[in-house]
Amino acid sequence: MDVTHILENLNERQREAVTAPVGNALVVAGAGSGKTRVLVHRIAWLIEAEKASPQGILAVTFTNKAAAEMRMRIEELLRISVRSMWVGTFHGIAHRLLRMHWQEAGLPQNFQILDADDQLRLIKRVMRAMDIDEQKWPPRQAVWFINSQKDEGRRARDVAAGDDLFQITHKRVYENYEELCNQGGLVDFAELLLRSHELWLQQADLLAHYQRRFQHLLVDEFQDTNTIQYAWLRVLAGQTGHVMAVGDDDQSIYGWRGARIENIHRFSEDFAPVQVVRLEQNYRSTGNILSAANALIDRNTDRLGKELWTEDGEGDLIRVYSGYNDLDEARFIAERTQEWIDGGGSPEDVAVLYRSNAQSRVLEEAMLRAQIPYRIYGGVRFFERVEIKNALAYMRLMLDRHSDPAFERVVNTPTRGIGDKTVESVRGLARSRQISMWQACKEGIAEGLFTTRVASKVTDFLALIDDMAATTGEMALHELADFCVQTSGLMDFHSKERGERGLARKENLEELVSACRQFSGELIFPLTDADRAEASMLEEFLDQVALDSGDRQAESGPSAQMMTLHSAKGLEFPLVFLTGMEEGLFPHRMSAEEPGRIEEERRLCYVGITRAMKSLYLTYAETRRLHGNDTYNRPSRFLLEVPQDLLQEVRMGGAVQRPYGKDGAAGDVWKDSELPGVRMGQRVRHAKFGEGVVLQSEGSGERARIQINFADVGAKWLMAGYANLQALD
Ligand code: ATP
Ligand code: MG
Repeated sequence: MDVTHILENLNERQREAVTAPVGNALVVAGAGSGKTRVLVHRIAWLIEAEKASPQGILAVTFTNKAAAEMRMRIEELLRISVRSMWVGTFHGIAHRLLRMHWQEAGLPQNFQILDADDQLRLIKRVMRAMDIDEQKWPPRQAVWFINSQKDEGRRARDVAAGDDLFQITHKRVYENYEELCNQGGLVDFAELLLRSHELWLQQADLLAHYQRRFQHLLVDEFQDTNTIQYAWLRVLAGQTGHVMAVGDDDQSIYGWRGARIENIHRFSEDFAPVQVVRLEQNYRSTGNILSAANALIDRNTDRLGKELWTEDGEGDLIRVYSGYNDLDEARFIAERTQEWIDGGGSPEDVAVLYRSNAQSRVLEEAMLRAQIPYRIYGGVRFFERVEIKNALAYMRLMLDRHSDPAFERVVNTPTRGIGDKTVESVRGLARSRQISMWQACKEGIAEGLFTTRVASKVTDFLALIDDMAATTGEMALHELADFCVQTSGLMDFHSKERGERGLARKENLEELVSACRQFSGELIFPLTDADRAEASMLEEFLDQVALDSGDRQAESGPSAQMMTLHSAKGLEFPLVFLTGMEEGLFPHRMSAEEPGRIEEERRLCYVGITRAMKSLYLTYAETRRLHGNDTYNRPSRFLLEVPQDLLQEVRMGGAVQRPYGKDGAAGDVWKDSELPGVRMGQRVRHAKFGEGVVLQSEGSGERARIQINFADVGAKWLMAGYANLQALD
């Protein structure tokens, strides 16, 4: 069989990996070095040269999109259908196994998958039945707890609670939730993996069958596997399976969701002997983009360490744009995108990346105004997010008590003891009398149709809305929005959710307030009548939102891609905008106090930069109205960690250009480089506080201040001139 076509267009190292003798292999390599390409060609090689059966191959990647692409590429190479091959995500494959072996897995044949929303609702119900106070123990926190336990492979009974009330409470919720799921044949996402891992452990025959079948296991994006995925893989491989793991320690960005970067390190031990292949030639980006990425990631400690190079020319300098505010930043991006399209480029080639979902709204608006088609990838558009819909429903209800959809949405959000039964009876009454649900509540109360308890809760709700409407009568739109998210309890309710999720929802609600301010301030939407009353302003705002979301739904055809940095993993685009390069935003403020998190943020920045093939813009705003407030953030430290001679400052319209960093804005406020011997991430020793890691610095010379995170006493600001720091590495 002629296998040369499989080896064409591979460099020597890649070929080495593709043709490695059958056994375990680890390909660690930087971004754009052809890892995914190697994986695909390896599969083709196994089938054609090693005569492996397509049925004996199991390939795992991170997203469904990546899996579909992988199949396509294999079929192209082999010119045969690969239907019998298992190519998918960990979740997809686990699901398939459980469907095939429901009996052995202890599930009913028609078991149901719970999506994230379903899961939350169920856990809420469990907690209500347990009489747990939702104010004190937000259900989302319980969801987070349960999922992380499952990701670590722990059943409720395995949770060590001790005398920690947090653990004890959540362990009990987990127990009850588990029982309910078992009774109802319900399986959440984390359960898919946990249960199929247990399937391996408990059904020796079945495991033996699959171990015989899958001789070849291949995993892409290996750095982001979590504990249970790793364990699953290890058991399946057993003594006979051959695993090729492909990954990049510098692109590990899911630590916050339980991914274990150590899995890369563990692999060489657990799967020994392992042939390790490193790839260093990058085929994606220009020299300048690559140099920037290399220099940035070099700041991280504890790396496997690798340097990328390219045969490609240096290419353009990396452009830095400093907007005077976030609207200006967004306008700049839309303008440059338009320029790209006018120059014959496709909108598809353009990616706008951001750290946090709340940033997307202003960017979306700028694209809409410029009439550039865009798609939000791997995320929900701003006005379609749950918390935003909730807030809008309150606003709608304040305007129109008889809006039933709004009523239904928020009558018990946040929870106020108005249960499904009550809502059902209100709905029934409204239907039979042909009145609104609001009206039905009033009549039901007047006629004594509810129990006293229910009547009092419903009365409270009606009064809340009436009061909110009365109080906000004179307010400007953004004040009204702010008052609304606070007084309704939504802000409290959503921000109590644990982890990134809660933070994101809180930020989005704050962002809604900004949207309202801009709406009235003429910045986003042209006003037709500046003298309108605020009440009709609210109405106009709500209508505008509804119209917008209709428009946006219909978008199809080639569009610019907008997504968070996290969802950009593995993808590549000719033109990339990395936006919001500001301290507090990126790196995110949540990460400032934890050195480990800063490194994860830096890896995220590395992922962002290395998505770019030809052209890269780094943008930031001097002021930003992000969370309902104007913030004045310093430019991101990441801007300064890139060698300044690779950067070039640009102005709107591209008119003025000068080298960045000479008299650029960042240099003025952040004279990091002037502190001799101190750099971000460096480990130092202080006579009194002990060892720590430099987080950031401010000012210059003797007066400079440095923030250091000490292992024993936490983060402290010190004067550089007096601290007498000893550098440790
Ligand atoms: P990431 O870390 O971002 O996932 P990766 O290491 O998986 O990147 P690929 O996506 O496989 O990299 O490859 C990056 C780009 O380089 C792709 O467009 C790919 O087709 C191209 N490429 C890889 N190897 C070669 C080669 N030997 N010759 C030509 N092009 C190549
Ligand atoms: Mg890849």
